[in-house]
Amino acid sequence: MKLLWGFVSLAFVVGCEEGKKILDQGEEERVVEEPAQVPTEPAGGENDGSDDAIAPAPQTPASSPGIGPTDPPYTTEVTFPSGLHLAGLGTVSALTATYPDPASGLLPFATSRQRHYAPVEYFIDIRSLSDSQRERRVATNFKLNEYVRIPERNGDHHIYIDAEIALHAQQLRDAWGGPLVLTSTFRSPEYNAAIGGAFFSRHMYGDAVDIKANNETMAFDLYNLAKFLEVSFLDAPENTIVGRNTPWLHIDDRGWSLNTPDTR
Ligand SMILES: [Zn+2]
Repeated sequence: MKLLWGFVSLAFVVGCEEGKKILDQGEEERVVEEPAQVPTEPAGGENDGSDDAIAPAPQTPASSPGIGPTDPPYTTEVTFPSGLHLAGLGTVSALTATYPDPASGLLPFATSRQRHYAPVEYFIDIRSLSDSQRERRVATNFKLNEYVRIPERNGDHHIYIDAEIALHAQQLRDAWGGPLVLTSTFRSPEYNAAIGGAFFSRHMYGDAVDIKANNETMAFDLYNLAKFLEVSFLDAPENTIVGRNTPWLHIDDRGWSLNTPDTR
């Protein structure tokens, strides 16, 4: 534990990403939609993140079924925009214990924001997912596996996927009009620290995704499209786009809206 925290502290110093310099703007809290009553999927699953171009989405309802949970308190189930419902998420106390304490004084936001940084309490065990579960869609163009394969490759066995970010990723994909590739989804606190992620990175809470841009023009196009979504936060182009050989877009649903910088 001590070693890990040493690492985390170091990462905080050198880490970049998602607005730790951004001031709390004190905007209104977002309304959390009620979870939908939809058929239950066997506990656990997720699917792989093949590219969204494949297979048209079988099951996105015409009207959104309501998604959730989007914020703490966490529960043992999650319902995605597609209607895919995962129940039986389990506790992993050793993992929950690795989350930074939002009351530690290091959270760069007002104390009213601390509740959005409650450690994740229930996780999807990705080793329990069948291949067919991984192929199920969380949204029209995104398979569960697209959210699973990245943390799995990073060595994480337990993950969390927020339904609201799955919705926003799909809405951005719809606006873009073509396949989008997720390059980062859930990160365990240990993995996030190892790669120098922000100390309170939303990736640890399952409500952040990074999206690949093929070049700066595409990155700015995605950025500007994403500004029209009700996403909580877009990381600034200076952090993710400008001067980067491999630009990306970071969006997250931390639970309240920060002022996302304009581009031009
Ligand atoms: Zn990110």
